[in-house]
Amino acid sequence: MMQLVTFTCSPEQALDESYLLLEIKNQLNFSSKNKLFFRWKKRSLDARNRTIKVNCSFEVSEEVLPNLLPDFDFKSVGNEKPIHIIGAGPAGLFAALECLLLGLKPVLFERGKEVRARRRDLAQLNKEGLVNPESNYCFGEGGAGTYSDGKLYTRSKKRGDVDRILQLLVYFGAHENILVEAHPHIGTNKLPQIIEKIRQFIIEKGGEVHFESKLTDLKVDSKTITSFEINASQWIETDSLILATGHSARDIFYLLQKHKIRIEAKPFAIGVRVEHQQSFIDQLQYHNQLSGELLPPASYSLVSQIDGRGVYSFCMCPGGIIAPCATSDGEVVTNGWSPSKRNNPYANSGIVVSIDPSDFPNFKTNPLVCLEFQKMIEGKAWAAAGKNQKVPAQTLKDFIDRKKSTHFPESSYYIGLTSVEMDDIFPAFVVDRLRKGFKEFDKKMPGFISQQAIVHAPESRTSSPVLIPRNHETMEHVDIIGLYPCAEGAGYAGGIVSAAIDGAKCVQAIHNKISK
Ligand SMILES: Cc1cc2nc3c(=O)[nH]c(=O)nc-3n(C[C@H](O)[C@H](O)[C@H](O)COP(=O)(O)OP(=O)(O)OC[C@H]3O[C@@H](n4cnc5c(N)ncnc54)[C@H](O)[C@@H]3O)c2cc1C
Repeated sequence: MMQLVTFTCSPEQALDESYLLLEIKNQLNFSSKNKLFFRWKKRSLDARNRTIKVNCSFEVSEEVLPNLLPDFDFKSVGNEKPIHIIGAGPAGLFAALECLLLGLKPVLFERGKEVRARRRDLAQLNKEGLVNPESNYCFGEGGAGTYSDGKLYTRSKKRGDVDRILQLLVYFGAHENILVEAHPHIGTNKLPQIIEKIRQFIIEKGGEVHFESKLTDLKVDSKTITSFEINASQWIETDSLILATGHSARDIFYLLQKHKIRIEAKPFAIGVRVEHQQSFIDQLQYHNQLSGELLPPASYSLVSQIDGRGVYSFCMCPGGIIAPCATSDGEVVTNGWSPSKRNNPYANSGIVVSIDPSDFPNFKTNPLVCLEFQKMIEGKAWAAAGKNQKVPAQTLKDFIDRKKSTHFPESSYYIGLTSVEMDDIFPAFVVDRLRKGFKEFDKKMPGFISQQAIVHAPESRTSSPVLIPRNHETMEHVDIIGLYPCAEGAGYAGGIVSAAIDGAKCVQAIHNKISK
């Protein structure tokens, strides 16, 4: 019989197999000479006090433990009913895998390139500041999640759904640790291989994956989707179209508006990406100890209510790099990534302010009001940086003191910084709250505000500024039969795992409809 054993120990002890076995035996009062099999169930670090502890939970049995992964029953689907999926981000890819599990044929269309060719476009972007509008940090195989930190935590409370996504990632090559760690992550260097394996498997099973294939139009007849157009040249008939295009595909929102398909303005968040030295964050979080073999590079999560609005840290990347995430020329956008070891000397995080459609006078009549604000800020940043992909920057201390920076410490942003006052990019209701928020954070993490920290602008692609409304039960658009607005771009997910869950759920809804 399998039993669960939990205890806390030091970080050193958590790495020592013989100590762990002894402690498990102690906990169970196990005196038999029989062999005991055990494996980690959950592991989390508790660094709230000076003595740092590891919370350990193990599955233990006198018999060989059952397989870690369930038996996924993927079917061959070459001759099955096609389900058309637009976008090969986490939502699109996991929708495709769900098709294979349910005996449906996924046919995926992705505007960007396959993951290896995409890497070359990113190298060019980082070297020369040239943005390819179809192949960048947001567009291409794997979606926005491919060249990210690969953090796999989510606020989703449905543990079963989350575990299933993590198990599928392990099935396709992710380290088993992601099933155990309280804050699992994969890393930019490991994600592309996993994504490539998923694609090859989809094709092997009879599905289709088409790259450099952009959805450019669609046809609706009697409130039902009937066909869609790829690359302004090829029309394809459909009765089930999953729209998993992510929140950076502005052309999709414009397309829906052109066809008078209902969309709504949605709250989102905007702000800056702040960067410190990782050693500084380690010392604060680990009470003057540094990360290393025993302790992973430290992270933080900060939140405050300022003048009735949330100001909070977003997508913190320990040991990370700040990336240029624009999807077209004429805009600057930041986000962060890190390799699996998180071994860069910098720690970056978005620090953002909640934005509500009602912040803008015409929010009731213009569903794109938040998107237009987001676009305006990104355009101002580009102009302020010198009309290129350099990033507007200010030291955090100078930002607080409203002074233009004359010197910067080293930043991880490859393309370079331009000294700009954040007040020239953001309206007062954003910068004022950011300043107050930073002062609150400095009380929680003394020294957070300093000349050694840099704010880079803007962090603007936190979540979709547009909602594509859908029926909660059928997952179809509220007005259009057969159209499935999916995941982050439609406003139903925020992050890799929740997007993947939503992709799978859209396919389950289609399967339910067909099976009736
Ligand atoms: C640098 C960076 C770091 C991040 N770090 C993390 C992290 O550590 N953890 C985390 O959980 N989240 C992270 N995120 C956010 C995460 O990547 C997204 O939440 C997630 O990818 C959303 O998944 P999605 O499938 O809904 O959309 P996306 O990943 O945006 O995928 C949409 C796909 O649709 C394609 N597409 C768009 N329009 C069309 C069209 N017209 N025709 C065909 N294809 C189209 C795009 O090319 C894209 O591949 C990060 C994002 C970035 C940019």
